[in-house]
Amino acid sequence: MEAAGRREQARDEARGELAHAQAGRVPEHAQAEQVRGDILVVEDTPASLQLLSKLLTDAGYRVREAPNGELALWSAQAQAPELVLLDIRMPGIDGYEVCSRLKTMPGLDDVPVIFLSAHSDTDDKLRGFQVGGVDFISKPFQFEEVNARVMAHLKIRRLQRQLAAQNEQLQRESRQRLAEIAHMNRNASASVYCAALVHELNQPLAAIMSNAEAAELFMQMTPPALADVEEILGDIKRDDRRASELIQRMRELLRKSDPVAQRLDLNEAMDQVAALLGSEARTRRVQLRTEPAPAPLMVAADPVQLQQILINLVLNGMDAMGAAPQAIGSDGAAARPRQITLCTRRRDDAMAELRVSDRGCGLGANQERLFESFFTTKPHGMGLGLSIAAAIVQAHGGRIWAENNPGGGATVAFALPLHRSAGEAA
Ligand code: ADP
Repeated sequence: MEAAGRREQARDEARGELAHAQAGRVPEHAQAEQVRGDILVVEDTPASLQLLSKLLTDAGYRVREAPNGELALWSAQAQAPELVLLDIRMPGIDGYEVCSRLKTMPGLDDVPVIFLSAHSDTDDKLRGFQVGGVDFISKPFQFEEVNARVMAHLKIRRLQRQLAAQNEQLQRESRQRLAEIAHMNRNASASVYCAALVHELNQPLAAIMSNAEAAELFMQMTPPALADVEEILGDIKRDDRRASELIQRMRELLRKSDPVAQRLDLNEAMDQVAALLGSEARTRRVQLRTEPAPAPLMVAADPVQLQQILINLVLNGMDAMGAAPQAIGSDGAAARPRQITLCTRRRDDAMAELRVSDRGCGLGANQERLFESFFTTKPHGMGLGLSIAAAIVQAHGGRIWAENNPGGGATVAFALPLHRSAGEAA
C-alpha cells in the first residue's frame, strides 16, 4: 500500500516536471540546483561582449563586463568574481597575461578562468592551461556549452571552498581536542606528580617548624641570641620560598593554559622530573638514575609540556617493570634491580636527545602501535600518554621513537632542536 503510494507520488512529480518543461520553465528544485554566480566577462569586441553578457544574465548569472585586460584586472581586484570568461586576443595585455597576473593576486588565485578564443589550436590551449586556465571554449561558441562549462567550474570551485573550510574547521577542532585531552592526561599524571610535591613540601615545612622552635630557645636565653635568631629567620624565609615554588609548579601543571616555549636546559628539566618522581620511584622500589650530558642542552620548549612528556615516559617505564617478574639471584636479592635511566646527549649540531630506558617487559608486538591514541595494554590505561608526548614533541619540531633494549626492557627517546641564542656558535 505504502509502496504504491510512493510510486504514485513519484509519478505525480514526474508529471509536474514534464508540465514545467513543456511550458518552457525550469522545475523549482532544478532551479535551486542551478549554480548561479558572479562572472567577469572579458572581451574586446563590443558585440560579442554584449551578447555573451546578455545570455549569461538571462541564464541567471550576475555579470560584469570588461572590454580589455587592464579593466578586467582592476574590476577583479575591486571585487573578486567567482569565475572569469577571458578572451585571449585583445589589444594591450592579452588574455594569457591577464590570467597569469590573476593567479598571483591574493584572493584571486583560485578563481577559475575559462578562455574564449577563435584561435584554438593545441598550442593555444596548452599555453592557456600553463598560465592557470581551467578550460577552453572555441569561438564561435554554442551558449549551451558555455553555460554547462561555467556551471561545472562554479560547482567545482564552490565544493573546493567548502572542503577547504571544512578542513580548516576540522583542524581547529582537532587542535582543540588535543589540548583538552592533553589537559586530561596532565591531570591524570598530575595525581602522581602532586603526591610527589606534597611529599616534597614536607621537607621545607618540617625545616620551618624546627627552625621556629630553635628560634624560641634562642629568644629565651639571657640575653637573647639575636644573631642566631637572625640567621634562623633567613633559613625560614628560604624554606618558605622553596615551598611556594613547589606550589607554583603544581599550579602550572594543573592550569589550562596555552603552551609558551622558552629557552631551557634539557638537563635541568630532566633533573627536576627525576627529583619530583623520586618518592614515587621509592614507593615502587625503582632506582631512578640520571646521566646528564656534560654541557647544558638548550632547547626552546614549554616547560610544563616537557615535564608532562617526561612524567609519562617515566611512569610508563615503572608500569612496564611492575608488570615484569623480577629475577632473583642465588643470594635472594634481585639479580637485576628495577631501574630507570634518564639520559641526555647532544645528537649532532642540530638536535638534543633525551632517553628514558627501563628494565621492564619490553615492547613486544606492540611496537608499531605505541603512539596510537587510545592504544593501551593496561587494565586502567587511557592509551594517551605516548600519543600526547608525540604530539607535543612534533609541535616542538622534534621526533620521538621507542625501541627494545638489547639486554631487555625498552627505551623511549625523543629529540628536540637545539636552541642557540643570538651569536652562539654551532
Ligand atoms: P597508557 O600508559 O595509558 O597505556 P601510553 O600511550 O602511555 O598509554 O602507552 C601505550 C602503551 O604502550 C602502554 O599501554 C604499553 O603497552 C606500551 N608502553 C609504553 N611505554 C612502555 C614501556 N616503557 N615498556 C613497554 N611498553 C610500553
